Amino acid sequence: MLIFHGAAHRSHDPSPAMARAGQPPNFDTPDRVDVVLDALRAQGAHRLQLAGDAGLAPIARVHRADYLNFLQTAWERWPRERGAELALPQFWPGPGSPAGGPPARCPDSVVAQLGWFAGDAIAPLMAGTWAAAYGSAQVALSAQRAVTEGVRSAFALCRPPGHHAGTARLAGYCYLNNAAIAAQAFIDGGLRRVAVFDVDYHHGNGTQEIFYERADVLVCSVHADPAEDYPFFVGRADEIGAGPGEGFNLNCPLPAGSDWPTWRAAMETCCRRIEAFAPQALVVSLGVDTHRDDPSGGFKLDSSHYVLMGRRMGELGLPTLFVLEGGYGLEVLGVNVTNVMAGFEGAAS
Ligand SMILES: [Zn+2]
Repeated sequence: MLIFHGAAHRSHDPSPAMARAGQPPNFDTPDRVDVVLDALRAQGAHRLQLAGDAGLAPIARVHRADYLNFLQTAWERWPRERGAELALPQFWPGPGSPAGGPPARCPDSVVAQLGWFAGDAIAPLMAGTWAAAYGSAQVALSAQRAVTEGVRSAFALCRPPGHHAGTARLAGYCYLNNAAIAAQAFIDGGLRRVAVFDVDYHHGNGTQEIFYERADVLVCSVHADPAEDYPFFVGRADEIGAGPGEGFNLNCPLPAGSDWPTWRAAMETCCRRIEAFAPQALVVSLGVDTHRDDPSGGFKLDSSHYVLMGRRMGELGLPTLFVLEGGYGLEVLGVNVTNVMAGFEGAAS
């Protein structure tokens, strides 16, 4: 498989500073990319390529201009007395008073703006966050371009991940929605139907939000029941899309502790929906935090199951772009990702 990667992600490493600030552990460390690259090199049969730079325009097709401007300038504007190593939100506008009252408005203060744009407190900003997020999106865009130009499949080794990032929201380790940016790039390149299949343990709330009212991008997801786990507030089965997008969002939430037979049945439901939609390209939001040893997830998949997962995706017979999302067990991350690739290529050959 053709693998795209980049080095910009290294400038965003919040884990040590989050620990020093007494925050919950941040599992998105730069080693994640290294272990996947090592495993891919060891497996052989892959071509590794550094990502290019397609600029800001394809990112701005998905994310709002005020949000992009905020991400690019926030760290320079951040008052150091509020955090010298990282910026975390402390104030949120909230949903407004149940009794009514004026709508919330966001002032020019960067402290207020961080709460305005942050969905939670686990996506800190640092000096290198924008460069890393921009680089991660470029990895996805380079892989998307390769698929557009005719390779059957490509894998974008993105970090930081993207699927929790909304049109104007950072959340859940995510800043720019790499999978959504790639899916939109397919549409802008002339495709009429693209499917996103999100197999990360956590619901891809950002991707769902971005395409919720659209019929040209089908979003299917297998994930932890939001009643039990992050992102908690969305990801339920009755969220099916709205307006022209009604029927083009499929959520398959599963209970904590779900094992492979349960997960596989939900995957099959998504694959059948994707087949019925007959997309011209498939974007897989590939999170492998469904493994039983992952520190952030609660499912019970074994490494061997990722071969079967990849095989079923290969059987869809579509031009396919894999975009790395979660997967935080450093001992199993490499083998789980390479097993997906092996299964996919086995089915595709
Ligand atoms: Zn995840």
